Amino acid sequence: NSVDEECDYLFKAVLIGDSAVGKSNLLSRFAKDEFYLDSKPTIGVEFAYRNIRVGDKLIKSQIWDTAGQERFRAITSSYYRGALGALLVYDITRRSTFENLRKWLKELREFGSPEMVIVLVGNKSDLSQSREVKLEDGQSLAQLEELSFMETSAKENLNVEEAFLQMITRIYELN
Ligand code: GDP
Repeated sequence: NSVDEECDYLFKAVLIGDSAVGKSNLLSRFAKDEFYLDSKPTIGVEFAYRNIRVGDKLIKSQIWDTAGQERFRAITSSYYRGALGALLVYDITRRSTFENLRKWLKELREFGSPEMVIVLVGNKSDLSQSREVKLEDGQSLAQLEELSFMETSAKENLNVEEAFLQMITRIYELN
């Protein structure tokens, strides 16, 4: 998984969604297989790479994390520039993070490219005892907005790989 490995394709994808839904942990799980109990309050954009083999092609994805910018409603258009994919994340234990998806979709459609592949992710599925968003609510929104959808747990490492891989293979198919 070396950054220097020869790759056939390189593309950018972004993580978006409210603060503390688990974006950073989804990315660290996917890129490094690590999980952090306390979020680190870093400010500014960060990204991680991961190489994926699809058939005989090596695809390098550069995935950007807001790293806290969303708390200040200060995600700039440059964050979205050139991105071919997005994981739009909410927290199944906080209804407000689901309600705010409308705002995020609007912003994605305003700043993102029209062909952007968007995967809707309901994170923290391990906390089902404090669930405030039903699985069906996620499914309906995804159907309405024509997005892929899955629930994940960055903590338990459930569906994380699947969510990113779905986005990456779809981008590959479209480009
Ligand atoms: P971000 O602000 O969206 O990047 O969110 P973070 O990745 O920093 O996570 C916010 C908090 O939620 C941290 O305390 C994480 O440990 C926790 N967290 C993230 N993903 C999960 C998950 O799948 N399950 C549980 N139980 N906690 C999670």
